[in-house]
Amino acid sequence: MKNRVIILGSTGSIGRAGLEVLGGLGPEARVVGLAAQSSWRVLAEQARYWRPEAVAISDAEHAGDLREALSAETSLTSGETAMVELVDSVPCDCVLAAVVGAAGLQAVLRAVELGRRVAIANKEALVMAGSVLMPLARKTGAQIIPVDSEHSGVFQAMHSGAEGEIRTVYLTASGGPFRTWNTEQMANATLEQALNHPTWDMGPKITIDSATMMNKALEIIEARWLFDLDPDRIKVLVHPESIVHALVEFADGSVVAQMGTPDMRTPIQYALTYPKRMNCCSPRLDLGKLGQLNFEPPDELRFPALRLAHQVAREGGVAGAVLNAANESAVKLFREGEIRFTEIVELTAQVLGRHETNNRPTLNDLLDVDQWARNEVTKCSTC
Ligand code: MG
Repeated sequence: MKNRVIILGSTGSIGRAGLEVLGGLGPEARVVGLAAQSSWRVLAEQARYWRPEAVAISDAEHAGDLREALSAETSLTSGETAMVELVDSVPCDCVLAAVVGAAGLQAVLRAVELGRRVAIANKEALVMAGSVLMPLARKTGAQIIPVDSEHSGVFQAMHSGAEGEIRTVYLTASGGPFRTWNTEQMANATLEQALNHPTWDMGPKITIDSATMMNKALEIIEARWLFDLDPDRIKVLVHPESIVHALVEFADGSVVAQMGTPDMRTPIQYALTYPKRMNCCSPRLDLGKLGQLNFEPPDELRFPALRLAHQVAREGGVAGAVLNAANESAVKLFREGEIRFTEIVELTAQVLGRHETNNRPTLNDLLDVDQWARNEVTKCSTC
């Protein structure tokens, strides 16, 4: 067990589940740092309970309130670079990167620079900067262990063979709330309908990404970087029950599947305790009671995000940053009622079609292109 843990994004859905997991692991686990973007009340409550050495809040506006709510022994950093400073100043064995979106990237990079284990739930950081993060991790020896349930599944299943023996990796997708809807129905989908996920209980951004299947698109790119796979070897399989999280097909035709109840606490714990397995607070799987599992190929006509994913995974370079930023920005517009549901992917595709390729980007190139794509979405949404 990597016992000194920092959680970035501790007040979100993965962060809270991570704290539950750490609570269940007993005295071996210590929370030494907590960071959130703006939910200072929840952060203060978590800090009073876990007594970390330091906490960080990105939104400086709440720093004063938070300072008053913290005990004197807990130090506080605030502002845009607060998470990076936390990772820098508090020695730890593992960083659980659970911030949603591009906002978590710099702190993840610093943890990798320092050679820490990064239990990575922040898929956007990998999608955006996989071409920078993965080579850096090889250099510093930082372990990047997936928390995303499908990638945790691949990570576990691929241990059944050697790297060159993998033929195809299948990431499963629940299909989201609109799995059986036609395009016209989807065009008129409301925010409330998009937020109503059938199997997973997650934060709002990822729930909307699941409804467009952009979540799976991001996961294809995430898998490409995490496992250094040819994008053509990464496929998606719709599986409404969300019990099989991933399948790995080997050269000899054997397929190894990883299963479990749809509960993020299992992959979070595995990323923290790997290579050990310990008792976990998530519910057990009872296949006899479940009776049957269903699978179907995805429909790329109704869910065009999937086509974008392979295009982006093949191009590499800055393409992932463009896709991610355009999608984040379009999801925000949908949540604000500015665009229709199907326009999220339409706008993202438009902006992706307009970017300039750059195959060897620096971090600054990625940050620039991120900003460019966000501005383009705003421009396109009104034209
Ligand atoms: Mg996932």
